[in-house]
Amino acid sequence: MKRCTVCAHPAKDEIDRDLQAGVPYRTLAAQHGLSASALFRHTKHLARALTLASDHHELTRRQAILDKLELLEIRLDRLFHNAQDFRSLHVALGCVQESVRVLALQERIRQSTRLRPGVPVSQQ
Ligand SMILES: [Zn+2]
Repeated sequence: MKRCTVCAHPAKDEIDRDLQAGVPYRTLAAQHGLSASALFRHTKHLARALTLASDHHELTRRQAILDKLELLEIRLDRLFHNAQDFRSLHVALGCVQESVRVLALQERIRQSTRLRPGVPVSQQ
């Protein structure tokens, strides 16, 4: 299969930006010595790259939320043990209830993203 002349072009990033900004194919073709049809075919590559980038961004965002929830889990556990030491059953019960909520949230995020626990986003 023939390689895409736009993907291989040294000014690819600039061309991609101009394509997204709506600069006409003819203008870009004349400017960079490309054919308008090559630019048209390349828009599929651009769309795929943008989708991948947005998927990656979303995964990173969800992983950040999971990291924060994990921190909350640790804090709740610490608080629970303090409450137990002070025989503060009401606070201890509150910790258990909040832990259940954190767990449910973690589960929901993991299921919706099919993130594998303990595996960084880059290796998912
Ligand atoms: Zn291309």
